[in-house]
Amino acid sequence: MSVVVFGSINLDLVVEVPHLPIKGETVIGNRFFTATGGKAANQAVAVAKLGIPVYSVGRVGNDSFGQVLLENLKFAGVDTSGVTIDPNTHSGVASIVVDNRGDNAIACAAGANSQIREQELSEFQRLLPQAKVVLFELGIPLPTVMEALKIAKDSDCTIILDPAPVQSRLPDELYQMVDIITPNEIEASQLVGFTVDGITTARQAASFLHQMGVKIVIITLGSKGAFFSSEEESFWAKPINVKVLDTVAAGDAFNGAFAVALAEGKSLREAMLWGNVAGALTVTKQGAQPSLPDRESFFQLLAEQEESD
Ligand code: ADP
Repeated sequence: MSVVVFGSINLDLVVEVPHLPIKGETVIGNRFFTATGGKAANQAVAVAKLGIPVYSVGRVGNDSFGQVLLENLKFAGVDTSGVTIDPNTHSGVASIVVDNRGDNAIACAAGANSQIREQELSEFQRLLPQAKVVLFELGIPLPTVMEALKIAKDSDCTIILDPAPVQSRLPDELYQMVDIITPNEIEASQLVGFTVDGITTARQAASFLHQMGVKIVIITLGSKGAFFSSEEESFWAKPINVKVLDTVAAGDAFNGAFAVALAEGKSLREAMLWGNVAGALTVTKQGAQPSLPDRESFFQLLAEQEESD
């Protein structure tokens, strides 16, 4: 009942500044910190924190950042035997400046993530027989994702794709190989070509994505919860009322918990509740991976929700 997560692993280098620099300006910052990230790494940590076996497939650079990223995944409980080390390229990084109003400017260099190809595909093939659920995202080369999907679709596992970072035109073939797609409102809007901003438009977007060939569409709606649609049924999973501090990684928490629920044999309806619970807990805390819920707080809120239903 394990989960395999295939995709990007990154380190954020964050400088807090009084104001964002303009062209040519040097601004003296107040604080610097690094934060481990990458959508796939976040989702792997989200799964690990809920206590089920999870394998990461990806690539880091042969640099100190790569070591930090690997150690961090291992510390969280993620199996990193499927993460390769690139001898020629740096680890994926995002250089971020944030001002005291929370506005930011970000420059990313995908580095090792952009070199994910045959080697990782063979790691993926090795790990696949153990997987009940596979999570994909798009922070790595699309042709590699397509190849991995082809490999995964002949197995018994459930294939989930978080289509982020979003690309407006994805190959038709991709939609047909995915069991479940999980865009947020912005990603859904880009994929379908009209604004998705609530349940009515989510329903229309889901119908578009079904026509493209995806069996199950889940559109996460931020503070409005999430919308589920399959060929058999559609429903709104209402949000859980919490005090919001920072919404970073809410979608990763949702995907991670949703995947864990399916790996544990829960129904799709239950899995939606699991996703909503994990997303809600994440927005009550600061940061990406540090805000992902642990087992104890997750199952406590889940039990409260199940009682109140
Ligand atoms: P992303 O982080 O990918 O943009 P969303 O913002 O849609 O994704 O959030 C993912 C999920 O996290 C939502 O479907 C919901 O379950 C939960 N969530 C996000 N924001 C809130 C909020 N303000 N209150 C309660 N739950 C939230």
